Amino acid sequence: MILGQAALWLNLLTIAALCLFVGVLAVSAVCLVVSRFPSFSMRLSTGARRPLLWSAVVLPWLAAGSAATLLVFPDALGERTASLAHWHHIYAFNIYSWHGLSALGFLALTGVMLARSCVRAYRHLAQLQLLLQVCEHETDDTSIIHSPRAQAFTSGLLRPQVFFTSGLRDGVSDDEFAVVRMHEEAHVRRLDPLQKLLFALLAGFFPGSQRNYLNRQMMLCMEQCADEQVCRSGWSETFVAQTLVKVTRLSNGMPAAKASSALCCHFAADQLNARIHYLLADDKGRSFSPLLVGILFIFLSGCCLFSVDALHHAIETLFSH
Ligand SMILES: [Zn+2]
Ligand SMILES: [Zn+2]
Repeated sequence: MILGQAALWLNLLTIAALCLFVGVLAVSAVCLVVSRFPSFSMRLSTGARRPLLWSAVVLPWLAAGSAATLLVFPDALGERTASLAHWHHIYAFNIYSWHGLSALGFLALTGVMLARSCVRAYRHLAQLQLLLQVCEHETDDTSIIHSPRAQAFTSGLLRPQVFFTSGLRDGVSDDEFAVVRMHEEAHVRRLDPLQKLLFALLAGFFPGSQRNYLNRQMMLCMEQCADEQVCRSGWSETFVAQTLVKVTRLSNGMPAAKASSALCCHFAADQLNARIHYLLADDKGRSFSPLLVGILFIFLSGCCLFSVDALHHAIETLFSH
């Protein structure tokens, strides 16, 4: 049995792990409901969906952190709240119990997720180096690959690069090429491949189907944001949609699975229907409201704060420590 200050920090870790579990479950439940009603997400603009998706993966961590801190240092809670939200044996920690197991499990899971992201980043950068060796550099951050297949994509984490194939440049008009270039430059400015990597790392803590849903929604949002950027520079939505269809036709439709597993941002990858539908829609949906994120944070923190004691007792009726 560990006692004193060390036990307090280990309890903090266990509580944070439990809170994160509760937070992830709560967000997964919301995702499950939202994914059943695709029209719901269409009611929000891309500018609103992007911060909301980030909130979905980041807020469980923030809520878990703040709920765990409040439970470990309960002076900030009122007496009535503390009677519902508390942690027994804050200065005692038995490492050979489910407490120790959940703390270690949480650390191991986080370690595995971080290692997987590092491997992904390493592979991505290794592929980028290979690409840079075989292509022709047009400008500092734009390169042409000699290939008959029409493709355009952005690759690279801290200094992303835009790649076009000669097949694409020869197959489209100057105006269409300008649209593709502007779209990819929007990905470069936002460091989208790096954002994809970080988002996938956080989404990795979600169960399989929710993780895929979140990643696919974020990919769609990134593409729509880049499309929107092109429209803001003066190109009509119809022309951008036409270019999208043309490039997809030229590239013979790249397999969706391959596109989603990579960190690159492909101009015409998948979810084409949703992008064209959004481009041509008159109503782009509601804009972002920080209030919604605030409500989500309070909801998640409340779920964590008030479910930890019940969870503690429920597990302890199964295991004795
Ligand atoms: Zn794109
Ligand atoms: Zn206990």
